Amino acid sequence: MDRNDDRWRLRLHGVGNASAVELGSAMATIERDGRPWLTIDCGGEGLTACLAQYGAPPVALFITHTHLDHVAGFERLFVKAWFGEGLRGKIRLYVPARLVPLLHQRVGDYPNVLAEGGANFWEAFHLVPVGSAFWHDGVRLEVFPTRHHWPDTSFGLRLPGSLVWTGDTRPIPEVLAAMAGQGELVAHDCGLHGNPSHSGIDDLEREYPAELLRRCLLYHYASAADGQALAARGYRVAHAGELVDLPPDRAERAQD
Ligand SMILES: [Zn+2]
Repeated sequence: MDRNDDRWRLRLHGVGNASAVELGSAMATIERDGRPWLTIDCGGEGLTACLAQYGAPPVALFITHTHLDHVAGFERLFVKAWFGEGLRGKIRLYVPARLVPLLHQRVGDYPNVLAEGGANFWEAFHLVPVGSAFWHDGVRLEVFPTRHHWPDTSFGLRLPGSLVWTGDTRPIPEVLAAMAGQGELVAHDCGLHGNPSHSGIDDLEREYPAELLRRCLLYHYASAADGQALAARGYRVAHAGELVDLPPDRAERAQD
C-alpha cells in the first residue's frame, strides 16, 4: 500500500465519565483507511457502541487501565472471541505489563470461565504485554504513564504525529511536552470540574500552553450539558459516535 494513501481517523464510541453512562464509556477506535485498526479500552457501553458501529468485535485493543468503565466489556468480548468464527486467540490485546496482573484480577480470574469447562480466559485472546512502545500492524506506538489514582496503573497511547489519547488522567504537562510535540490531536480526559481522579478545564487552562489546548479534543465529561459548557468556553468537545480526522502520520512518512 502506498503510505501516502493512508487516512487515519478516530471513532469515538463513548465520551462520558464512569457515571455518565448515557454518553458511553470512554472508548475509541483508531481507523486506518476506513477500517478499524486499534481500539482503545473495552468498557461496557463502549463495546456495545463499537459492535454496533462495525458489526464485528475489535481486531486489536490497547488497554489504558483497569477501572471497570474501561474493561467491563471483556467478559462479553471473551464469549465473542471464544465462539466467534475464526476469532479464538486472534484478537490482539496490547496491555502495559504493569497492568497485566490487575487486568487478570478484574476480568480473567473468574473460576471456570465457561460453565462446561475446557477454556482459560486468556486463550481466547492474543495477549501482548507492552512497555514504553510496541508495534502493531507495522506501526510503532508509544505508551506513557498518566496521573490517575495509583502510580503505574494508568497509561496513555501515542500514534506519533497523529494522536495522543491520554486515558483517564490529571494534567500531565511534562509528559505531553515529550509525547505530543509533533502536532498530534490530543484526546484528553476533561470535565467541567476537576477532582483528584480527573482533569477539569480549569486545571488544563492552568497547566497547558495555549497551543496544546488548541489541539485538545475533550472527552470523559459528566453530562451533555457539561459538554456544551466546555464547547461554549471555546474548546473542541468529542461526541459519541463522532469520526474525527487525525493529522497524517508524519513520523511514519519521515522514514520513507
Ligand atoms: Zn479510571
